[in-house]
Amino acid sequence: MNGRTCRQVDVKLTEPESSTGPQYRGEVVDGHAYARQRVTGGVTKEWHLLAQLPSHIGHSFLPNSRLRKVSHIKGGPFLAAFGDSSPLAARLARTILNHAPIGEFRSRFFPHENITCNWCPARQTRRHILNSCTHYNRPRERFLEFLINSSEPGAHLASFLTDNMTAFSFTDAPAPRI
Ligand SMILES: [Zn+2]
Repeated sequence: MNGRTCRQVDVKLTEPESSTGPQYRGEVVDGHAYARQRVTGGVTKEWHLLAQLPSHIGHSFLPNSRLRKVSHIKGGPFLAAFGDSSPLAARLARTILNHAPIGEFRSRFFPHENITCNWCPARQTRRHILNSCTHYNRPRERFLEFLINSSEPGAHLASFLTDNMTAFSFTDAPAPRI
């Protein structure tokens, strides 16, 4: 693409057409970069809208608005805390969505299967795992409520999941009834 063609593309992207045709104000931009910026802005805006809809994010999404902030830059403000670890990111998503191999989730689809914690006489729920299960280490009491009110819930959740490598994994799912 030569310089003249680029300028024509830029004019097309930056200036609304009028009855006298596009007006060029001397602004020099990279047509490709501008188009990419517009697409990224549109996608990010749509993500933000979808992240507000229970029909899109589920009805059990961990209620901290910071976890709904999305970005195309390195996965956003909290996904960056997980580096390149796919298993950790998967457990993060399971915890936030409450869509995990735990008794609470299983009871919705397999009500006749075991839903009791493997270490406590309690139903294995997200709240139980984060707040009171004897099997896991947690930095403070009422950890779920702490996450809900935290300004950095992703980092704190990452720390918990790193300290408890089987939390919200299939390894810790309630054992089958014998
Ligand atoms: Zn337990």
